[in-house]
Amino acid sequence: MGTLKGAVVVITGAGRGIGRAIAEELGQEGARVVVNYSKSKEAAEDLVASLQQNGSPEAVAVQGDVSDATQAAKLIEETINRFGRIDVLVNNAGINIDRSLKNLSTQDWDKVIQVDLNSYFYTMKAALPHFMQQKSGKIINISSVIGQMGNFGQANYAAAKAGIIGLTKTAALELARTNVTVNAICPGFIATEMFESIPDKPKEAILARIPLGRAGTPQEVARAVRYLIVDGDYITGESLNINGGLYLQ
Ligand code: NAD
Repeated sequence: MGTLKGAVVVITGAGRGIGRAIAEELGQEGARVVVNYSKSKEAAEDLVASLQQNGSPEAVAVQGDVSDATQAAKLIEETINRFGRIDVLVNNAGINIDRSLKNLSTQDWDKVIQVDLNSYFYTMKAALPHFMQQKSGKIINISSVIGQMGNFGQANYAAAKAGIIGLTKTAALELARTNVTVNAICPGFIATEMFESIPDKPKEAILARIPLGRAGTPQEVARAVRYLIVDGDYITGESLNINGGLYLQ
């Protein structure tokens, strides 16, 4: 794409954590950022105010639970109504409900698949006609190293994140002829609230397994997103691993 200036970028679940860092990274270079949030209006509005002061005067917050197909479609529709186009879709919204399979209820399974996998399909499906008509676009799906290696107590999360990789590869094949690239990013352990909520002992055990000896930062993931958008025109169907060497393939 070459430049972010004026690019219309939709980021799901952008109120905090990795999504917020992506919004800041892209906004500071002049992207017109659509900050999607589900519940935390205050955090999203606070982010938008900061983006407007820092390179993205047209940044806007749009409420919507993207695990609901109608609301996901409305998010894209509102973006088109406001800006007339969409250049980048970053699927980032995610949750986890961790239990070993023995204790995992069907509701725990369904909820995580709904938010972490189905929502990615819903937003992509809604944005697709616009990307195809424009004959340009970039879709970036935030997956996880857990989707590649599995993890004790995270069957639902691992299945959703592995599903994202398959969805990404297929969409890349189907959209390549319309000049739309689709890639996944697989972060390892990143120091956000999701990671900080892990109790001290297991957290120490995780850190001990990371060859680079530390968790990643949300900004390190955000810079990879920027790379795929600005310099990644010939990259599609890939999974970019940002995990400190945690899982070497
Ligand atoms: P986070 O919990 O800080 O942020 C997730 C955001 O998604 C929150 O703002 C939340 O409100 C939003 N969200 C949840 N459900 C939503 C819905 N239905 N509709 C709209 N928004 C919704 O987590 P994070 O660490 O910033 O994670 C961001 C993404 O990165 C997730 O997809 C996560 O699985 C992935 N990831 C995180 C890590 C990590 O170590 N933090 C590692 C690998 C992958």
